[in-house]
Amino acid sequence: MTQSTSVPTVQLNDGHSVPQLGFGVFKVDPAETEGLVSTALQTGYRHIDTAAIYGNEEGVGKAIAAAGIPREELFVTTKLWNDDQGTDAALAAIDSSLGKLGLDHVDLYLIHWPAPKNDRYVETWSAMQQIQQQGKATSIGVSNFLVPYLTKLLDGADVVPAVNQIELHPAYQERDVVEFSRSKGIHIEAWGPLGQGKYGLLEDPAVTAAAAAHGKTPAQVVLRWHLQQGNIVFPKSSNPARIAENFAVTDFELSDAELAAITALENGGRVSSHPDEVN
Ligand code: NAD
Repeated sequence: MTQSTSVPTVQLNDGHSVPQLGFGVFKVDPAETEGLVSTALQTGYRHIDTAAIYGNEEGVGKAIAAAGIPREELFVTTKLWNDDQGTDAALAAIDSSLGKLGLDHVDLYLIHWPAPKNDRYVETWSAMQQIQQQGKATSIGVSNFLVPYLTKLLDGADVVPAVNQIELHPAYQERDVVEFSRSKGIHIEAWGPLGQGKYGLLEDPAVTAAAAAHGKTPAQVVLRWHLQQGNIVFPKSSNPARIAENFAVTDFELSDAELAAITALENGGRVSSHPDEVN
């Protein structure tokens, strides 16, 4: 089995560490999840990012159980869906997720979206703190939180979120959210790190030139760009060759000029709905 020792770890504000590169399973068919996560674990990935709404926590759990990797070597994230915000629902939702995963705790539990129309995310954060105290989630954080939502959450928080998982790729860099989060000690996890293959990112000359210069693929260059800015990433692929390709990004370094050329690709191209609208 490939070793994962070359993946850097990032230390979170609560003292716990996360492998900076993982495997995401959004839109992975539940029936294929166990096989693909097993492939990822065999490749060397030790960090898996799922969510209750993906409907594939059971497949993730089966792959983990079958792999026989010591639990402390794995980092597993899942997320609380919008309908489960509020104290009682959140406390029940983590139990449901842990049951499906076959685990007694996750390493990271996230509020998936602020869902501002329901306006329950401050109350939900209190429940997340309880979940952490109960030992059911080692670290807790948020996802898709823009600055006003983070500000309101922090006002009433005893625990500062360990991460904010946001859409972030060269075409959409959310610099205001990144700067604000980092100023509060909140690490950035970049979802959609490849822009879900949209916006011609992987065909752009800034990316393809760097790929040619380093003997790497465009996807590897974009993932490397993330790692060199300190982002935590977990690209998704259902193709075993690409799962391996996306893992082989720790053995080269982009120059400052290459990084700058890729950073210049910002064009406001978001792949998801706006967080104000997801409820
Ligand atoms: P991604 O940017 O990782 O794109 C995945 C797509 O890129 C694949 O389906 C494939 O089409 C393409 N791709 C993958 N590897 C490639 C390669 N080597 N070469 C060429 N094309 C390649 O997008 P994502 O899946 O949306 O994001 C990654 C993970 O982030 C998800 O699986 C999930 O875990 C998480 N996520 C979180 C949220 C959230 O709201 N918190 C939303 C979306 C995704």
